[in-house]
Amino acid sequence: METHTLNRTNVRRLVPKNAIGCYRLGDFDSEGRFVADYIGRSTRNLRNRLLDHASLSGKSAFQFVSLDSVREVFDTECLWFHLLRDQLTNRRHPDAPRHRVGLECRFCKAEHSVQQGQLRAMAEHQGVV
Ligand SMILES: [Zn+2]
Repeated sequence: METHTLNRTNVRRLVPKNAIGCYRLGDFDSEGRFVADYIGRSTRNLRNRLLDHASLSGKSAFQFVSLDSVREVFDTECLWFHLLRDQLTNRRHPDAPRHRVGLECRFCKAEHSVQQGQLRAMAEHQGVV
């Protein structure tokens, strides 16, 4: 995933209209590396969500993925949560999307039964880290 400076111009230029997906917000450390401290999703309009963050969040940078289905959006947000939870300011586990109450996190169980490295390998396979 590429890291972009968070401002409204970049969001309009980079995030497709009508996309759904997930995003990370954060700042740069002293060595210029992006450190995400907030994750989120939109299953309706990713661009509008990020435009709001560009105006209000005060973060320096963002990353995003656009995805094809609500299921993928939820899985990706959950995966990021499990991978990054120690550095996030949003500490609460993602809720199932509205109208999709039955969806369950695939990684809550995995976290207990597999190594963190395997979780990361799954994330790399999905291209979301
Ligand atoms: Zn979970």
